[in-house]
Amino acid sequence: MGKQWTVDGARVDELRAAFSGQVLRPGDDGYEDARRVHNGLIDKRPGLIARCAGLGDIVDAIRFARTHDLEVAVRGGGHNVAGRATIDDGLMIDLAPMKGIYVDPARRTIRAQGGVNWREFNRETQVYDLATTGGVISTTGIAGLTLGGGLGWLMGKYGMAVDNLLSAEIVTADGESLTASAEENPDLFWAIRGGGGNFGVAASFEYRLHPVGQVTGGLVAHPVASAKDVLHFYREFTASLPDEVTAFAGVTHAPDGSGLKLAFIAVCHCGPLESGAAAVEPVKKFGSPVMDVIGPMPYGQLNVMLDAGFPKGALNNWKANFLSELSDEVIDAIVEGFLAVPSTMSALMLEYFHGAVTRVGATETAFPHRDRGYNLAIISQWSEPRDNARNIAWAKDTFAAMKPFVAAGRYVNYLGDDEVGDPVRAAYGPNYDRLVNLKNQYDPTNFFHMNQNIRPTA
Ligand SMILES: Cc1cc2nc3c(=O)[nH]c(=O)nc-3n(C[C@H](O)[C@H](O)[C@H](O)COP(=O)(O)OP(=O)(O)OC[C@H]3O[C@@H](n4cnc5c(N)ncnc54)[C@H](O)[C@@H]3O)c2cc1C
Repeated sequence: MGKQWTVDGARVDELRAAFSGQVLRPGDDGYEDARRVHNGLIDKRPGLIARCAGLGDIVDAIRFARTHDLEVAVRGGGHNVAGRATIDDGLMIDLAPMKGIYVDPARRTIRAQGGVNWREFNRETQVYDLATTGGVISTTGIAGLTLGGGLGWLMGKYGMAVDNLLSAEIVTADGESLTASAEENPDLFWAIRGGGGNFGVAASFEYRLHPVGQVTGGLVAHPVASAKDVLHFYREFTASLPDEVTAFAGVTHAPDGSGLKLAFIAVCHCGPLESGAAAVEPVKKFGSPVMDVIGPMPYGQLNVMLDAGFPKGALNNWKANFLSELSDEVIDAIVEGFLAVPSTMSALMLEYFHGAVTRVGATETAFPHRDRGYNLAIISQWSEPRDNARNIAWAKDTFAAMKPFVAAGRYVNYLGDDEVGDPVRAAYGPNYDRLVNLKNQYDPTNFFHMNQNIRPTA
């Protein structure tokens, strides 16, 4: 494993012959587009990109990599900030063309292929006023987000994305296709509900859906001068939050490019509209917001509300950690860190875990973060490569300033490529040893290692 690219063109043609999708080498039409991921800082050049059209292509790509001893990366939606969906020299198994989605409105289930993103997913489910917990913005892939846990607008009521997963079709390191569900391969099913891409390629996912059409959602923004008051209010508001409400808050910039600094609270109430209005009223009444766009809207519309703030190709360096508590001191540190930010595309965001998420035991799924509390994401985002050093330094320094306030746990999907210590162990906490045992069973040679890697010990 880890070889440089040595497969000659004739062998690649053998793979192409039966392939339903496309097999791209550097220089081929479409290669430059296909190698790019969401984070513009990631600039890797795979030796080969297997753009899979279906399960058969995934199986062939895995067997081809095995035969030629190639390093492999797996791409779903390509949003991983650490850039683990791609690779230099090796083979990228790219699921982006796999867009199949089948909703069963009677059973309230959906099966969606591994290249689908949340916009495409909601487009189909919203026809029936159905939804399940997915990403806060719509361009993120369902695959990586779900495999790592998956937080979003509906989590207070319906739990994490993994809590709604019914089954997945997994192609393992030896090219075998398995169903992972509560009935079939339950150990594997446990592992993929948080364990990321460590156990195989997820060709498709089956989820439970819920009746969610119109929600009461949106955000209020306040001048940054009142940021501390806004975050104190957010702490009080979340202290008695009903399951139906999921609430995020933080400090950010106006979306018009003016550079105006703002504090915000973003909410989604997914119950009846009358109770939604009452539940979000305190947020709308608090202080003197400069913007209030909270009201009834289709869930699919809420899911695209923040998309423009995260353009494809922007340069990203994120840091994140669960907090031990949202104390006055950490609120001060968040606001002070934000006032030193060098980019008008950056933000700090708090995500509150409560309700259905916290009624699942920490060891019931590989995703272990089931305590009520706040996750803090430091989102350093900018557009000019000449600004790389100062924006990366800002994320690092701001994260360092949070150290006194952080809990042990970290969310695997927000881990960066420049972490110190053992972030993967922190991401899995009490589940780490069981995950290593299952990695030994399903992928003892660590064939799938371009991910937040759980190293086998076998
Ligand atoms: C702008 C932005 C917004 C985000 N918002 C949220 C949010 O609201 N909630 C949240 O929980 N997270 C969020 N995230 C984090 C997100 O969950 C991760 O970035 C996740 O990895 C994205 O999944 P993907 O399929 O797009 O990523 P990719 O980069 O394609 O893949 C991520 C990892 O998963 C593996 N993988 C991908 N597809 C498969 C597959 N089919 N089978 C096996 N392994 C696979 C990859 O190998 C890689 O290791 C956000 C990230 C960004 C950049």
